[in-house]
Amino acid sequence: MVAVPVTIGRRPAPAPAVPTPSAVPTVPTAPNAPSEPLTDRFGRVHRDLRISLTDRCSLRCTYCMPEQGNEWLSRSSVLTTDEIVTVARAAAAAGITTFRLTGGEPLLRPDVVDVVARLAALRGPDGAGAQVAMTTNGIRLPEVLDALVAAGLARLNISLDTLDREKFAALTRRDRLDDVLRGVAAAQRSGLRPLKLNAVAMRGVNDGELVDLVEFAVAHDAQLRFIEQMPLDAGHTWDRSAMVTREEILASLERRWTLRPIPGRGGAPAERWRLLEGRGEAARDTGHTVGVIASVTAPFCGACDRLRLTADGQLRSCLFATDETDLVGVLRGTVGGDGSSRTPDGERQAAVDARLRVCLAGKRAGHGIDDPGFLQPARGMNAIGG
Ligand code: SAM
Repeated sequence: MVAVPVTIGRRPAPAPAVPTPSAVPTVPTAPNAPSEPLTDRFGRVHRDLRISLTDRCSLRCTYCMPEQGNEWLSRSSVLTTDEIVTVARAAAAAGITTFRLTGGEPLLRPDVVDVVARLAALRGPDGAGAQVAMTTNGIRLPEVLDALVAAGLARLNISLDTLDREKFAALTRRDRLDDVLRGVAAAQRSGLRPLKLNAVAMRGVNDGELVDLVEFAVAHDAQLRFIEQMPLDAGHTWDRSAMVTREEILASLERRWTLRPIPGRGGAPAERWRLLEGRGEAARDTGHTVGVIASVTAPFCGACDRLRLTADGQLRSCLFATDETDLVGVLRGTVGGDGSSRTPDGERQAAVDARLRVCLAGKRAGHGIDDPGFLQPARGMNAIGG
């Protein structure tokens, strides 16, 4: 497998996070010649590409980023929109059907609407359009959501860990709960459904308000999904004994509702339950659901269908991969897909396709958090793309 060590560009002074939007798209949106599905050595067919648009964020969540000393990607190392679309075209031709935009905070990218429009215009081998989804902290949604929806955004996840302003400020190191709540309200007004809210469950932080978070989601016509905290913080301070487990989350919710499991999870990361009022025979379905993403205590790697593209053009087969497959060389014409020659434009798509397969070939059966030799990836979650 051709893999490169994690290399993060550095820049001393703050500056705009990303290139300016391209005025005229240069990459056509017609489907590529179909290529083989992206099947790994364990038979997992890959349908989902997570694309990080920037490593920068308007918040500094303690479980994700350090408060200070972030070594941001250099402006020139962040992929342009043309480059992202080149990767996405090759991926769509190989059967990727969902592009999830993330970061960092994807809405900090100035041309995010352009990115959504161009990805939504891509077609798979069967002619079907790609689905473009986004995970965001929601802060910029009131400004841009209408344009995103018009551009073709299909699904939205908003991260919200607490409803308590002081806790929010301590957890994110920014006093911006009201901005996030305005983002949730904008999302509720939009037609995007299902609307999902993500909350990382944390002991001593928000484990006392899990029910409140679900009630809040229900009131906003959204589905709450609790995430087990993973060892991805930039400070490498994660402690398994401190994390709130799936079992604890369910026990907390069961004090308020009867939970009825929803079968048929497929490759989705979240297990889901229906929320029922009352107990036993008399229990009544509220029509609402809750999800738990138990990445640590009940990993779902066996059904994983995801690949990741970092903002600086590295392919990752797993959140916890310790190696990456470089796409910058083929995108910027310095290295061929086989690692040998320069790449003229006409060959670039094939070269990207070849790199997708190199990345896939190195994908492990599981994330290995429980392995004795587990090493936390060098990048924090913000630089990987959550
Ligand atoms: N800024 C966007 C946001 O807030 O949703 C997108 C990026 S963020 C890295 C994506 C998701 O990863 C968020 O829902 C966040 O809570 C989650 N996340 C970050 N670090 C995590 C960790 N150590 N364990 C579990 N989830 C984490």
